Amino acid sequence: MQKKELNIAVIGAGLTGLTTAYYLQKFGFQVQVFEKDNRAGGVIKTHQKNGFVYESGPNTGSMSQEEAAELFEDLAADCTLEYANQAAKARWIWLGNKWHEMHMGGFKSLTTPLFSWHDKLRMLGEPWRKKGNNPNETVADMVRRRMGKTFLRNAVDPFLSGVYAGDPEQLVTRFALPKLYALEQNYGSFIRGGIQKHRERKNGKPTKANRQVFSVENGLENLINALVKNIGSENIRLACKNLEVKQSNEFHFSVNSESFTHVISTVGSHALRSLFPFLPKAKLGAIEKMNYAKITQVILGFNNWEGIPIQSFGGLVPSAENRDVLGILLPGSFLKNRAPKNGALLSVFLGGVKKPEFFEYSKQEIEQIVKKEVGEMMGLKQFKPDLLELFRYKYAIPQYSFESEQKLQAISDLETEFKGLTLAGNMRDGIGMADRIKQGRIIANNFFTTYS
Ligand SMILES: Cc1cc2nc3c(=O)[nH]c(=O)nc-3n(C[C@H](O)[C@H](O)[C@H](O)COP(=O)(O)OP(=O)(O)OC[C@H]3O[C@@H](n4cnc5c(N)ncnc54)[C@H](O)[C@@H]3O)c2cc1C
Repeated sequence: MQKKELNIAVIGAGLTGLTTAYYLQKFGFQVQVFEKDNRAGGVIKTHQKNGFVYESGPNTGSMSQEEAAELFEDLAADCTLEYANQAAKARWIWLGNKWHEMHMGGFKSLTTPLFSWHDKLRMLGEPWRKKGNNPNETVADMVRRRMGKTFLRNAVDPFLSGVYAGDPEQLVTRFALPKLYALEQNYGSFIRGGIQKHRERKNGKPTKANRQVFSVENGLENLINALVKNIGSENIRLACKNLEVKQSNEFHFSVNSESFTHVISTVGSHALRSLFPFLPKAKLGAIEKMNYAKITQVILGFNNWEGIPIQSFGGLVPSAENRDVLGILLPGSFLKNRAPKNGALLSVFLGGVKKPEFFEYSKQEIEQIVKKEVGEMMGLKQFKPDLLELFRYKYAIPQYSFESEQKLQAISDLETEFKGLTLAGNMRDGIGMADRIKQGRIIANNFFTTYS
């Protein structure tokens, strides 16, 4: 089949779908994006109100993939990448009624109360500890085995709350933290692997994946707007309610009565059954077993901040501390023009897989929790925010848990059985924004190499 004979439908206009469509089009393919909502962007959305610029959904990403840096280069005329201010790079962990700065290396990591002396000493032996051989080992088991219980309790558990709103006892390292898994498998140790990787980076080809925290000037939605502008809004169909993809003989698929040779889905696993009624239920069942963390997000804006000093990225809370928030991010401290001078912007996350019931709480109940938690943890004598907004996500973050292998097998089987179908999105290949961009780019690259 020639490139010009191809007609590709992308379902979902979130970051994955838009990146895929952008590169496919750049490589000369005909693409139509179908989106059920009346706007593009998926969970990425920027809001402006009373002098605050704030995000619902993700606030920042990590520049962990070259493809993400390249997308920003490609879109430089239409949106401006912003890196987090290094002056506010401190990351806090809540322990015993106060925040402690996290240090992973150097003298301060020896004196930190976050880890026991036993585990600090045990860490010295990490490079010589035996390599694990269970491919389905959870993050919790792996960290206990290599680093010790307090590293799990006060570093990895809150880190996974921040990234997955998840539970280290349920997340399987090979799927949830593939880079960490590879460090042990390839180098035998996190420390040895980390050092070796650092050397390789220093001596090898410079990488654009600098692992810095990124956003976009005036909000992440400007990345979405730039993608939409370049794809052309005439190629993005919004408000496509109750979309159904059908198989047709002459062409492979029909979407909204239009014919397509290929369909690329970027929707969540829960949306597949109604979208693709022809897919076998048993295979879909294996994909649908994956759980999603439900997240409630509260944005707080203060015109005049009177709490503790907030020159920080924000803080995460170990589950063992039994607080009602997962973490508090401080975008007003590390991004430009997000809050009035002397003010503060906080993004508070609640719920996750450990407290799914929060999703059902009323706005008043959530406000009471936030008032108590933020008041106490951020040292506010009185809780009088000038901005309070609440957002809820039923399918916020997919959990790469024990069913991951079967899920990926089912996806691969379906793609083999139904030629021209790609099942993508964050149900596989990583949940971070940089992972989403990478996946979209790889899909487009594969089309290019196959059909050019
Ligand atoms: C609260 C929250 C905080 C996060 N924080 C971070 C963070 O700090 N850093 C980070 O890197 N990542 C973060 N993430 C994860 C990251 O934002 C997502 O993984 C990524 O944006 C998902 O993009 P996507 O395009 O794959 O999916 P989505 O954004 O979900 O887009 C999918 C699109 O498909 C559409 N759709 C669904 N069903 C249909 C259908 N039947 N027909 C047509 N269209 C359909 C949806 O409406 C949506 O627009 C966060 C996510 C959430 C929810």
